[in-house]
This record gives sequence, C-alpha cells and structure tokens, in this order.
Amino acid sequence: MYDPKSLKAEEFINHEEILETLAYAEKNKSNVELIDKIIAKAKKRKGLTHREAAVLLDCDIKEKNDEIFALAEQIKKDFYGNRIVMFAPLYLSNYCINGCVYCPYHLKNKHIARKKLTQEEIKREVIALQDMGHKRLALETGEDPQNNPIEYVLESIKTIYGIKHKNGAIRRVNVNIAATTVENYRKLKEAGIGTYILFQETYHKGSYEKLHPTGPKHNYAYHTEAMDRAMEGGIDDVGLGVLFGLELYRYEFAGLLMHAEHLEAVHGVGPHTISVPRVKKADDIDPSTFDNGIDDNTFAKIVACIRISVPYTGMIISTRENAKCRERLLHLGISQISGGSKTSVGGYAEPEPEDECSEQFDVSDSRTLDQVVAWLMEKGYIPSFCTACYREGRTGDRFMSLCKAGQIQNCCHPNALMTLKEYLEDYASPETRKLGDALIIKELDNIPNEKVRQIVQERLGKIEAGERDFRF
Ligand code: SAM
Repeated sequence: MYDPKSLKAEEFINHEEILETLAYAEKNKSNVELIDKIIAKAKKRKGLTHREAAVLLDCDIKEKNDEIFALAEQIKKDFYGNRIVMFAPLYLSNYCINGCVYCPYHLKNKHIARKKLTQEEIKREVIALQDMGHKRLALETGEDPQNNPIEYVLESIKTIYGIKHKNGAIRRVNVNIAATTVENYRKLKEAGIGTYILFQETYHKGSYEKLHPTGPKHNYAYHTEAMDRAMEGGIDDVGLGVLFGLELYRYEFAGLLMHAEHLEAVHGVGPHTISVPRVKKADDIDPSTFDNGIDDNTFAKIVACIRISVPYTGMIISTRENAKCRERLLHLGISQISGGSKTSVGGYAEPEPEDECSEQFDVSDSRTLDQVVAWLMEKGYIPSFCTACYREGRTGDRFMSLCKAGQIQNCCHPNALMTLKEYLEDYASPETRKLGDALIIKELDNIPNEKVRQIVQERLGKIEAGERDFRF
C-alpha cells in the first residue's frame, strides 16, 4: 500500500506504485497534451510529482525534450544563478564489514590496503585540504562498528573543525557514513555537521538485498528509513542519492522522487541535496558486470528531470565524472561539485605508494582545485566556497524560505563573491587570481540591492587587507 506519509520503507517507496508509475510513463511518453500540461506545471517552479516526472523522463519527442532541457537550464539559473559550490571528500577509514558487490571496500576484498587515519593523520590531511583552499568537506567511512565507531567519527569532526592553519578553516563538514541510530544522528548534529548524506544505492528491494548480500547494510528497511531517523535526531539537511548503473534508471528515478516526497510529507522539508553517482571501475570492481549502466545522454536527461521536479534541492556531481560530462550537467542543474579530490584514505597529505592503494574508485576528473576553479570561471560560473547558510542557522526549511523570498541574489551571490575573493587571495595561482578578480568586478553589478553592493565592496577591500570570514 503506497503511503508517502508512512514511516515504513516499503510503504513510502512502494514497489507496486513504482511499477504503476513506470507503466503510466510508458503509456504516455508520446502523449503531447499531457506532456505539455506537465511542462506548464514545471514552469511554475513548484516541482512535479514522481508520476509527472516519470512521464517527462520517458518522453521520446525531440521538441519536447528540448523544452525540458531548456526549462532545466532556466530553473538552474533562476534558483542557483551561476554559482557553483565547491567541496572535497575526506576518506577517514576504509575498514568495512559489509559485502556491497559494487564497492571495493567490501569485507571479502583482501588485496585493498586497509587504512584508518589517526587524529594526527587527519590533521595533516585537513591542512593539505586547507592549503588547496577547501572550506567544505564530505567525510566518508566504511561501516565497521569496531574500527569506525561513532566516537571515532565525532572525534574526527572535532579535530577537523579545530584546525586553523594560516588563513585556512573547514567551515562545514558534511558526513556520508552508514545508516545509524537516532541517538547517533543526534550526536552528529551536536558535533555540528552540515548535511547527512546517505546514498540509497538502489530503491529496488530485491536488487538491494542481492547487491548487499552480507553485513548490516543488507537490511533494506533500516537503510531506507535512515533519513527519517536522521531528521528525528535533529539533522534537517539530508542528502539523497542512488548509484546509477545498479538497477533500471527509471525505477531509481521514481524511487528517488518518492523519497523526496516522503521527506516533504513527513518532515515538511525535502532533501537538501541529491547526488547522482554512477558506478566506476575500482579495485576488485568491474562496472561492466552491472547491466544497467547509463550513457551520457540518458544521464543528462535524468539530471534535467530532477532539476525541474525538485527545484529547491541542490544537486551534486563528484569527480567520478570527467570534465566534459561535468560541464554539460552544470548547465542542466548541478549546483555543487568536488575538485582536486582523492578517494584514498590519506591521499591528500602525500600520494599513496602504488602497492598500498586504498582508493574507493578511479576519479575521472583529476585536475587540481585551482584548475577546476579557473575552468569554472572561464565557463562563466562563480566557484563559491560559501558555508554561510548552515552557520547562520539557515538549514532545512529556513534555507527554502530564503529561496522563496527571492533573496538569493542579495545573499548567496555576495557570499559567493566574498569567499571566492578569499580563495583568490590565499590559494589561487596568478592566472586564476587575475581571472577571478575580473569576474568579481563584473559580478558586483549583479547584486540588486545597492546597500548590499556597497557593503560587499567594502568587505572585498578588507579581505585584500587580510580580514577573513565575512558573510550575510
Ligand atoms: N559506507 C557508507 C554507506 O554505507 O553508505 C558510505 C560511504 S561510501 C564511502 C560512499 C558511496 O560511494 C557509496 O554510498 C556508494 O554509492 C559509492 N560507491 C561505492 N562503490 C562505488 C564504485 N565502484 N563506483 C562509484 N561509486 C561507488
């Protein structure tokens, strides 16, 4: 029985409802009248239901697809402007007791090097990340209650926030660790995390159980209901995602939107972010063994349809994707990207010896953060190192209200410019700095409120004089 308000996984991610949705989408994929109606609704920027979105995803009419892509680009511009938020993953430990068949950290993999950072090693990693210019991290660990208990994660978060090296600071720590208890989520909240991120991997229960044959992650309901526990524990920014390639993408797409609808129905606020990872080659993992890989065009369509279905939800793409693919997706809806990433445990402070590889997957974009920042600016984007919302208490629906009040351009835009200026002063190469300074001057004109513009100008001068950490 489908019920978005239920707290039971199989009721809010209901298999029959997904099958009916897919059948409805298949039946209507050339129904111009209905498609036009759905596109008209999406243009109101209030989002779409999973059924409506599924029809657009399936739509095979070229002109209508062009309209969908154009609308995604427009919504992206209206809600997120040309700002792209930057982050980096930080792998703390790859010890894991699960049996996930797509992940090289699985318990039976005996040839991957197992590593767990000490607090001293974390310090070195964080200093290396600060020296690149990062302000926002996503913490990653395998699931292993003995090696990576919650106390270890909490202590690591404290260490990370405590490191002040030169002008560097990590101002927002997002956390991607296995599903856990309300009590542990509460502890994470108290430790000051930003978003709690957990990928569903697949919404298809039967496939989920086969892909996670052993370990605590095998429990589909416990995993699927994790975001409800996180919200009960006080975390109001949660990040969803599926690992594309494991199951049929149409199924995952419907499941993902149903999950977003469920969070909105129960907690009054949808997901803060949605990530769209695709399965990658890794130690012990050959992505071609999974039958459901998606090509770049399908991937772009998925991103565009998510963008117009949940306009208020940020979208994240990692270095699993190459520069070309990332560029296309940035237009269509992505608002956050990682740069200069390492997926090994301890890979930032010094490169890993080849015979001691602990990487989670091969990265396809191996450029430095400086190169990614310069590239974004050349493409007309503003790389933003902003962490203001969470630090000003604008989480959950309070962030949404900022969007809804149309104040993004007087708030996020200036914050992006000021944090970019800090980056240029402290970390950029001379060429990147030149590009950035010119961009900031040009972008000042796009702050509508004159008073705000004046304050930003003053603060930019203060940043040049050495002051840091201004925000609206
Ligand atoms: N261990 C945590 C959990 O169980 O959710 C999360 C951390 S894991 C380091 C982060 C994510 O990497 C996983 O949720 C999975 O989606 C993704 N991942 C695992 N293997 C991958 C692969 N071969 N290619 C791409 N992404 C992968």
